[in-house]
Amino acid sequence: MNTKKSLLGMTKKEIEAAVAHLGLKKFVATQITDWLYKKHVLSIDEMTNLSIKDREGLKEIYVLGREAPISVQESIDGTKKYLYGTRDNKFIESAYIPDEDRYTLCVSSQVGCKMGCLFCMTGKQGFQGQLSAGEIINQISSIHERDKLTNIVFMGMGEPFDNIDEVLKSLEILTSDYGYGMSPKRITVSTIGIIPGLKRFLQESNCHLAVSMHSPFEEERKKLMPIQVVYPLQAVLNELKQFDFGQQRRIFFEYILFKGLNDTPRHVKEIVRIVHGLKCRVNLIRFHPIPDAPFLPSEEETIENFKNALIDKGIRTTLRKSRGQDIFAACGLLSTKAKVKLEEGDY
Ligand code: SF4
Repeated sequence: MNTKKSLLGMTKKEIEAAVAHLGLKKFVATQITDWLYKKHVLSIDEMTNLSIKDREGLKEIYVLGREAPISVQESIDGTKKYLYGTRDNKFIESAYIPDEDRYTLCVSSQVGCKMGCLFCMTGKQGFQGQLSAGEIINQISSIHERDKLTNIVFMGMGEPFDNIDEVLKSLEILTSDYGYGMSPKRITVSTIGIIPGLKRFLQESNCHLAVSMHSPFEEERKKLMPIQVVYPLQAVLNELKQFDFGQQRRIFFEYILFKGLNDTPRHVKEIVRIVHGLKCRVNLIRFHPIPDAPFLPSEEETIENFKNALIDKGIRTTLRKSRGQDIFAACGLLSTKAKVKLEEGDY
């Protein structure tokens, strides 16, 4: 394991502090952020407007930190699933999803996840560690499609607000002029509702927010998502209702439809009641069955009726396309459990 720090994932302030610590001129920080986030170099040696002495000084403490994916799998629908190694020898995945004129990358924020949602493969994997901002940024910067990306969603492995410091740092780098200069409107961060992280995200970022609802009823949601016991949906909604989202920033509610469980007119009525007063959109998602989960996907007709009933009640609602199912890149299917086991010699 390389013990040197990674430059990729450092904010401009952090790089300025590092440059000062090394006794280099202040403008070197801007040169470094340009090489890292605009010119996408692969090594410190390629930073050719830094003197050789300065590069050598940097190399004593830092590595660049850009790592190519270990492998890529491509779906028949064009979705690609990338596999990466992390600094502590674990594995993570991201999914590239082209769709007409939208090119979305779904990134991971943790190795596995602590949250244990019963319908999710990553949840079944358990938690193996946090990703650094560099490891989050690397998922974007290391792929061929980097310059084509129109949208980034933090909906891969992990709960982003359980790794809030590194996620906020990566959002700063993605949206700052010194970094990737992306509009925050092109980035959506998804959460199951970790309130302390949610508060910081609302204050410290302008990116869109997606909240996993999956049931508007407390008791039912508890059975799907254990987090409901700690941070009830109602408390999350109260936070959102107090916050001024302005004209540009959006809230989405993610809703996976399970047959006979959360797909009835009673659920439509309750969703409409609890989101009242919030300018939001509901994204309906087909369930992709996973081993040992006691759920089935809703029938197509039920899904259509559910969607139309919400629209009739004035709720903007979309049904998300299922993508990359054949390579296990679809929503809720990312897992590197087998690879973790392989690493540990279980296979
Ligand atoms: Fe974690 Fe999200 Fe899966 Fe829940 S749905 S276990 S929060 S990755």
